[in-house]
Amino acid sequence: MAKGHIGVTTENIFPVIKKFLYSDHEIFLRELVANAVDATQKMKAVASKGEFNGELGDLTIRVAVDDKENTLTITDRGIGMTEEEVDKYINQIAFSSAGEFLEKYKDQLNSIIGHFGLGFYSSFMVSKKVEIRTLSWKEGAKAVKWSCDGSPEYTMEEIDKKDRGTEIVLFLDDESKEFAGKSKVNELLNKYCKFMPVPIAFGKEEEWKDGKYEETDKDKIINDSTPLWSKTPSEITHEEYMEFYRKLYPMQDDPLFYIHLNVDYPFNLTGILYFPKIKDRMDISKNKIQLYCNQMFVTDSVENIVPDFLTLLYGVIDSPDIPLNVSRSYLQSDSNVKKISTYITRKVADRLDEISRNEKEAFQEKWDNLKLFIEYGMLSDEKFYEKAVKFALMKTTEGKYFKYDEFKTLIEGEQTDKNKKLVYLYTTDPVAQYSYIEAAKNKGYQVLVFDSQLDAHFVNLLESKFENSTFARVDADSIDNLIQKDDKQKPVLKEGQEKDLGYAFEAVLPEGAHYQVQVDNLGATAAPIVITQSEFMRRYREMSALNGGLNFYGSMPESYTITLNYENPIMKGIIDTMEGDTACKVADIKGENDEEKTAARKAIMEEFAKGNDLMKQTVDLALLSNNMLKGKELHAFIQRSLDLLKK
Ligand code: ADP
Repeated sequence: MAKGHIGVTTENIFPVIKKFLYSDHEIFLRELVANAVDATQKMKAVASKGEFNGELGDLTIRVAVDDKENTLTITDRGIGMTEEEVDKYINQIAFSSAGEFLEKYKDQLNSIIGHFGLGFYSSFMVSKKVEIRTLSWKEGAKAVKWSCDGSPEYTMEEIDKKDRGTEIVLFLDDESKEFAGKSKVNELLNKYCKFMPVPIAFGKEEEWKDGKYEETDKDKIINDSTPLWSKTPSEITHEEYMEFYRKLYPMQDDPLFYIHLNVDYPFNLTGILYFPKIKDRMDISKNKIQLYCNQMFVTDSVENIVPDFLTLLYGVIDSPDIPLNVSRSYLQSDSNVKKISTYITRKVADRLDEISRNEKEAFQEKWDNLKLFIEYGMLSDEKFYEKAVKFALMKTTEGKYFKYDEFKTLIEGEQTDKNKKLVYLYTTDPVAQYSYIEAAKNKGYQVLVFDSQLDAHFVNLLESKFENSTFARVDADSIDNLIQKDDKQKPVLKEGQEKDLGYAFEAVLPEGAHYQVQVDNLGATAAPIVITQSEFMRRYREMSALNGGLNFYGSMPESYTITLNYENPIMKGIIDTMEGDTACKVADIKGENDEEKTAARKAIMEEFAKGNDLMKQTVDLALLSNNMLKGKELHAFIQRSLDLLKK
């Protein structure tokens, strides 16, 4: 038996490995199975070159556990190793690269994707002793056993082994006994090895017999060695794509669409991406894309590899060209990763464009579930915006969908104002803003629905992109002011009369907000009072709320514009009555200075307002149609209405 000293500089690296990689101990299994896969693929290559004349035999990789001995064994029928090779690859290279690895990544070990490059020695994270039993494919090779108990010393001896290939036996340490358990190993194989390219057997198939499950002699293969993404797209049916999705995400609704990615130049990448149904914020889940490297699971967090908005997608990406042993923050600046990210963005946009043209109706039907994803992409990625602007849809309150340019053509005639600006009207809540939408429709205008969480930002984006256009929420002003056609006649009022009306109406409006009262001609059939909130102020408040902060605008009281419609007969009546009732009192005002006189005048108007039921009633009706009449005021309104009915 030979003894030797492993060629590492650090006195004893194993405690360090255990400590640093504590959180990811379980990846040892992936590393060992991956080595077995490599050895098997190499064996196939050797055979196909005609260098090997023997029988390849069954190449299945076998994983076995023994929970009495606390061992875990991985057996392959790959190329195996000669004694010299064990010495070279395990004693020299594997262990010295362990030293280097730790030296290099000491500070950032936890941020390295999947801790790649750990290889064989990651087995010491969970073992007190590791044995390698191996027989090389080479003619005349002798089988050897290598054994190491975690100290830098190892032993090597010749053994009797008939089958070509390698068997790695882990003698698990006391803290890692769980890895000798069937269910744990099953879980890990399912997580890390599900799509590895060589069949992997673990345990036996079970069958239902005499009222219970019984093991058969048939090996249970835990992986699918030719996953869907590795196949040729033209040979895959729609149902197969759906089935694959259900296998990956058993609890999810079916996806809306899928894209098969397949490139081999200038980088290698395959994969299938699925668009999940996103109804609202609750449905958003990131990190549903699994990243593979040659069918070996790497991670399910693809941040920094694909643009942020694409992390909302589901599916798999497989690429050997994504550097795995670098820190996440470095990834973004890697030129391959940049190319990959651009490629995926373009593919996604092209596919959506294609569907929007070829399956117009399906696209419209699915729009509500797609919208959040697409708008997020348009907001966060300029290149995606440029493509999406051609297929993104706008939805009107009538439930009709239009592409941007179609919608523009539709409204250009009616909704261009006197300054040649095109005004896009929108609602954030078709129920609450119903009366404003009706007023707009009566004029023949179209109203868009922008009711998702992102829309406050999205409206700003479109406004900044569309030339000569503005966006106005339907309740931002009276409809004639939102789209001003020609200079219309302003009502002719007596001096100070608008101010007086302000004093009076403010006295009967709810407290706690700021009001600006104005008199305007809105037409004889329009409501006597229209309450609006300035587009500018509202957007600022919304943006600051979305950004989570209460800045200057966010902390201001709500501010409303109260427009009294002079052409409405009820309003005209109120204004005339007020003028008549208060004229004498105003004439009698005596005071030392302007301040006192103003205060007295204000008091007269307030007194009038409080005694005038009709005025209160019209104010309350306006509040009511705006969803602003609540609690005590609502109760008073109902009482007053009943009293009026009695009269
Ligand atoms: P890596 O796989 O990254 O090269 P490892 O430390 O995992 O690093 O393995 C070192 C070397 O040991 C491998 O390159 C390979 O030559 C050899 N080796 C490991 N496992 C096996 C195996 N199951 N069969 C044959 N050779 C193996």
